[in-house]
Amino acid sequence: MADITNVEKMFGENVFSISTMHERLPKQVYQKILRILSEGGELSRTDADVVAKAMKDWAMEKGATHYTHWFQPLTGITAEKHDAFVTAPDPEGHMLMEFSGKELIMGEPDASSFPSGGLRSTFEARGYTTWDVTSPAFLKRTATGLTLCIPTAFCSYNGEALDKKTPLLRSMEAINIQSLRILRLFGNTTARKVTPSVGAEQEYFLVDMEKWQKRSDLVFTGRTLFGAPAPKGQEMEDHYFGVIRERVGAYMKDLNNELWELGVPAKTQHNEAAPAQHELAPIYENANVATDHNQIIMEAMKRVAIHHNMQCLLHEKPFAGINGSGKHNNWSLTTDTGVNLLDPGESPEENVQFLLVLSCVLKAVDIHADLLRQSASDVGNDHRLGEKEAPPAIISVFLGEQLEDVVRQLIETGVAEKHIQGGVLRTGISTMPDVKKDATDRNRTSPFAFTGNKFEFRMVGSADSIGSANTVLNAIVAEAFSDAADELERAENFPGAVHDLIKKNLIEHQRIIFSGNGYAEAWVREAARRGLPNIPSTVEAASALTTDKSVALFSRFGIFTKAELSSREEITYETYAKMINIEALTMIDMAGRQILPACIHYAGRLATTTNALKQAGVSTMAEMGRLNEVAALINEADNALNNLKALDEQAGQIADRKKQAFFYKDSVKPAMAALRKPCDELELLVDKAMWPFPTYQDLLFEV
Ligand code: ADP
Ligand code: MG
Repeated sequence: MADITNVEKMFGENVFSISTMHERLPKQVYQKILRILSEGGELSRTDADVVAKAMKDWAMEKGATHYTHWFQPLTGITAEKHDAFVTAPDPEGHMLMEFSGKELIMGEPDASSFPSGGLRSTFEARGYTTWDVTSPAFLKRTATGLTLCIPTAFCSYNGEALDKKTPLLRSMEAINIQSLRILRLFGNTTARKVTPSVGAEQEYFLVDMEKWQKRSDLVFTGRTLFGAPAPKGQEMEDHYFGVIRERVGAYMKDLNNELWELGVPAKTQHNEAAPAQHELAPIYENANVATDHNQIIMEAMKRVAIHHNMQCLLHEKPFAGINGSGKHNNWSLTTDTGVNLLDPGESPEENVQFLLVLSCVLKAVDIHADLLRQSASDVGNDHRLGEKEAPPAIISVFLGEQLEDVVRQLIETGVAEKHIQGGVLRTGISTMPDVKKDATDRNRTSPFAFTGNKFEFRMVGSADSIGSANTVLNAIVAEAFSDAADELERAENFPGAVHDLIKKNLIEHQRIIFSGNGYAEAWVREAARRGLPNIPSTVEAASALTTDKSVALFSRFGIFTKAELSSREEITYETYAKMINIEALTMIDMAGRQILPACIHYAGRLATTTNALKQAGVSTMAEMGRLNEVAALINEADNALNNLKALDEQAGQIADRKKQAFFYKDSVKPAMAALRKPCDELELLVDKAMWPFPTYQDLLFEV
């Protein structure tokens, strides 16, 4: 472990960073890399050999023996296959550690074992991983030792994307090109590149390892499928920002150190709303690196937890009745000269470029609300969105008082002449300074909120990659920029044309703006009146990928082909069906082999006691009452169990993927809920000593 007393020194110590390349590469190769980083392009094989050797030497000096192409298949997590640097021994039996440019640039994992949604069949197994120069290689420390991880994209033999990185990189190229067109219109000739910046706040739960092991639902599905609420939940609001417990504090310290070594700028940590829930936020980086770093964060969270005899739960809804976890995806656009296109400046009403950008974002989100919703959907997230703890499933944009007022002026009069000032926060205490406050309060219920100089997309699930959400964001805004640039580049009178376009965008898409309470029933009705889509679940969201609108958008910028989109829709149905099936089987197992036997045992003991009491001539009213209640619930649970078994078997017979996924949602999921209900009620009646696994109370309050 590095010297953890000196964070500045340890930061990025395990990263093959720009500065490491500067030190270790010949000048002209280093400069080629810099050029690729800023302008794109490819490295020649000879140069790749040079980089590979430098990378291997650096990794081996640190103690690494293996390397891996690290990629993000459509399972949502990362994949890796380790190869040692060793080569075949020479005739004398000496072995050399080697790593060639070819091995750096390209790998060939068997693609048939990863989801492809019909893009290839098992006999066409070839898939390639290719080096992503724009995300730095790093050394991961695990029980297997130090491994050199090379971030890569993963494609099929025909070049179809089988991962989350390829489309993200394509979308970043699109937004770069279209943003530059907008900047040029406003006379900016110096910016050469525009990059989406992303900061993803990550929520998670920690539970004790021994307790976790005793619950097969947590082990197999990442969430509790049974569990009566503890007497205390989050109603006292005493966990959010509360004092961090010692055991958790020690975990956070190790986690930060590990992340800093890996060059992840972990910055903020705090307790979240639910008991045993926490959050980590890094400082924002370019969308590609931020997406890789978010994967590294999730991996490290799980790994470090094990060292502390805990398990980190990244599932979106590990516990019923208290908040689940999400990921706030903060997004903005930054030029290589350091200008943020989403910064309104001191007087937003005069900042025409900003107003155009804003109007384009509103247009993009309004037109493609279904795609944005889809990008944040996953099986676990279905338990959160629309459940009054996370944003509603309806996409809308919160602008805040100041911008909404500017937009209103523009729509009503065609000009915006003033802006609401932030004012001063008076503390009322003579020894404390009065501070300047923001012009706008926050709205926690909004799925897509403007927060000063960035948009915060709050829908993404905690276990999900942020790749899809950012691909969609980049793509839809690139389209709106491209439409705007097409029109404005032709305009004879630019100031007039841009003014008209901003007004037109705002008028046509103002329905997407909403600043009220997103949790209220009234909003659901209002959104329906406005014609905004309200897509309840992952399976309903999936078809958004393959609408004509979506195909036109993604093919326009070469981000996805129609086949790639269809494959992703197909994978969604497949994954959904598989995951609900695992949940159903886990419930069947737990109810059949743990809960019901325990309850029957308890009922038997109650019956024996009741008989004994009766014989002794004592009143058995209470015992009989309880026995009847328990017996009735056992009966209910047993019926529900049989029903779930039958439906899950029926689901397994359905050949059509989409129909099958819908059957799991519409028939199997309700049957799971029907089984959970009597079991949770039984938990509150049965002797705690007889309950077969740790309860919510044990899991949430006794870490
Ligand atoms: P808040 O608490 O106001 O939401 P923070 O400043 O804590 O915001 O930031 C939350 C996340 O947003 C962090 O990851 C931060 O680095 C990131 N962030 C801040 N500014 C930007 C920006 N301009 N673009 C993208 N992400 C940003
Ligand atoms: Mg935030």
